[in-house]
Amino acid sequence: MEEKKKIVLSAIKPSGEITLGNYLGAIKNWIGFQDEYECFYCIADLHAITVRQEPRLLRKRVLEILAIYIASGLDYTKSTLFVQSHVPAHSEASWILTCNANMGELSRMTQYKDKTAKLKENTSISAGLFNYPVLMAADILIYNADFVPVGIDQKQHVELARDIAQRFNSSYSDTFTLPEAKIPENAAKIMDLQDPSKKMSKSDDNQNSYILVLDPPDVIRRKIGRAVTDSVGVVNYTDEQPGVKNLINIICAIKNVKPDEVVASFEGKGYKEFKEYVAEVIIEELEPVQKKANELLTDKSKLEEIYTEGAMKASYAATKVLRKMQKKVGLLPPVRK
Ligand code: ATP
Ligand code: MG
Repeated sequence: MEEKKKIVLSAIKPSGEITLGNYLGAIKNWIGFQDEYECFYCIADLHAITVRQEPRLLRKRVLEILAIYIASGLDYTKSTLFVQSHVPAHSEASWILTCNANMGELSRMTQYKDKTAKLKENTSISAGLFNYPVLMAADILIYNADFVPVGIDQKQHVELARDIAQRFNSSYSDTFTLPEAKIPENAAKIMDLQDPSKKMSKSDDNQNSYILVLDPPDVIRRKIGRAVTDSVGVVNYTDEQPGVKNLINIICAIKNVKPDEVVASFEGKGYKEFKEYVAEVIIEELEPVQKKANELLTDKSKLEEIYTEGAMKASYAATKVLRKMQKKVGLLPPVRK
């Protein structure tokens, strides 16, 4: 008998345009899983609305992300590509899990603390932002995912999903697979170009802090040119030079080389030459992705076909687990005709 494939689930939320951090820390890592595992890759629009979004822009970004997924090498004939809100099981499971999560564990989530700290004074914080890790637990658990490939910033949330799963399994009976985060080696955390002590994020207000996957070459050159470095002036891979270290990590993640090799090839050379090289490496990587993504975005009907098919496949898998959850907590099933 053929062995059942392990299941992979991951997602990006359309809270901004996809950055190089999302591409290297998440998408690029997802591609390699497609042959070995059964993969579900989602566009997490319900997560995006935990902070207020411009509706028209949000809809546009969802399609853009799908186009970038496909252009980067996610194959919709192998993997299930879908939009989170098209699969109602996510929201339904999320409520059941909310009732099995506790305030204390949610209060300890560092992402919540970071995100609320960034909000301006007097901005009201949505309960959705607080609860978002539970929705993420639902995203993972309703597919019985074994692996969740994410950047290191999301590791804590995957661990929470695991804790909630374990608790549910022991309270009711075995229901969920316990998920495990898979963190990429070189691109676990791509840092902000303007402040290399924090993570590059698509929702940042400062456009110079990130590279977007769809940034044109001249914009990439300009942003890398402006990236904050230091006064040492020598290309080293050390925590004392976090800006330079980050740029080296970007090269390593794209070229699949070791930091020492990059340092050696820039011996005796300055930051100008180094940054020019970094920009060209990024441009070379992103150009084919941009070309394909822009092509896909000219024919919305193909994208519609892909996400419709994806939602059907995802719903089929998720609903099976959701039914189990509903039954175990004691919800009376409706008569289905
Ligand atoms: P936001 O600022 O709205 O939270 P984000 O850039 O953090 O946006 P998410 O949608 O929260 O993006 O995360 C999507 C995926 O990208 C996750 O797997 C996350 O770990 C990964 N990721 C996000 N930023 C980085 C980064 N700077 N380096 C590596 N991986 C990242
Ligand atoms: Mg994030």
